[in-house]
Amino acid sequence: MNFSTKAIHIGEDPKKLQYGDAVSPVHFATTFAKTSIKQIDEEYVYSRSGNPTRDNLEKKLAALENAKYALAFSSGLAAETTILLSLLKEGDHVIAFDDLYGGTKRLFKQVMKRFGIEFSYVDFRILENIEKEIKPNTKIIWIESPTNPLLKLADIKEISRIAKSKGIIVVVDNTFASPYFQNPLDLGADIVLHSITKYISGHSDVVGGAIMLNNEAIFEKLKFHQNAVGAILDPFSSWLAMRGIKTLSVRMEKHEKNAQTIAKYLENHPLVKRVHYPGLPSHPQYELAKKQMKGFSGILSFELKGDINMAIKFVENLKLFFLAESLGGVESLIELPALMTHSSVPREERIKVGISDSLIRVSVGIEDVEDLIDDLERGFTAVKA
Ligand SMILES: *Cc1c(COP(=O)(O)O)cnc(C)c1O
Repeated sequence: MNFSTKAIHIGEDPKKLQYGDAVSPVHFATTFAKTSIKQIDEEYVYSRSGNPTRDNLEKKLAALENAKYALAFSSGLAAETTILLSLLKEGDHVIAFDDLYGGTKRLFKQVMKRFGIEFSYVDFRILENIEKEIKPNTKIIWIESPTNPLLKLADIKEISRIAKSKGIIVVVDNTFASPYFQNPLDLGADIVLHSITKYISGHSDVVGGAIMLNNEAIFEKLKFHQNAVGAILDPFSSWLAMRGIKTLSVRMEKHEKNAQTIAKYLENHPLVKRVHYPGLPSHPQYELAKKQMKGFSGILSFELKGDINMAIKFVENLKLFFLAESLGGVESLIELPALMTHSSVPREERIKVGISDSLIRVSVGIEDVEDLIDDLERGFTAVKA
């Protein structure tokens, strides 16, 4: 089966339902009645440990990443926490991309470090940086590709090859690409992670996280810890995520098409200094993007020829782009990382990785692109005034 067919059909089985519902119902029950003591260990006992709606979603999620197993969590960060708690102990070491999602950095720096986990942050665009950091206690290499907000890439296949030779587990945060445009397990990674909140649910109305993988032993560890700490996705959010997944491929096609058009428009604009988008031939890793991704997704960032006040004026004068954090929904969002998503990152560190004060990040929605460009034009007119 191909991607869109799987996204629609896996996890739906009308023949098994009393009335043949074409859409699986939501199973809200927290507990499941048995007819005899012998049945007490059967499939569903208590909803934290297992729920039929969450199970259906997990089947769908696994199919999207060509994985054997998937788990659905209450948020992307709950999924990340469960990976770290399941696979690491005091004294272990993690090597991570230095341009990570802000919440992931906060989890590593302000929570996990307290439990004696060591973290190194390096620029994954240069493979030697990773090789140099590998120590006997290195257990995980944590990739995000493309990164937030600078759209830097890591070569997933090469990094997985290096890790495999040392018995290190490779985790890839695949949120920005979505499973439609990139499948890290097929490139050799061990664990794929998604914030369901973003493209997978796609309508800015669910907070959730997912893990997909093929290794049974690691899956059993993750499943045990997910239940032990209680980091599960609730039935209604699971159902909304299933509904979102059915249109993932058509949404991603439109997100990408609009993003390509806007990236080119911005690149040719006299008030724009630089555009970061992996689908532009000017992106320093355009060749790698073409090799490991099936498309370039819908997020880009750009710098104005001006200061932070110009950037503020620009974003505040838009009407269609919502001034908001998050990404991956049908509506276009715009934000200033320095003041919003990355405000918790110290300025020096932010500048060092390349997030300047006037950097603007855009999550391009699936509206008509002519209207989006008219709106951006409104922003440029305002800053020129
Ligand atoms: C949003 C996001 C997360 C965290 O997911 P939540 O669902 O907000 O907990 C992790 N990684 C990336 C790249 C994200 O965009």
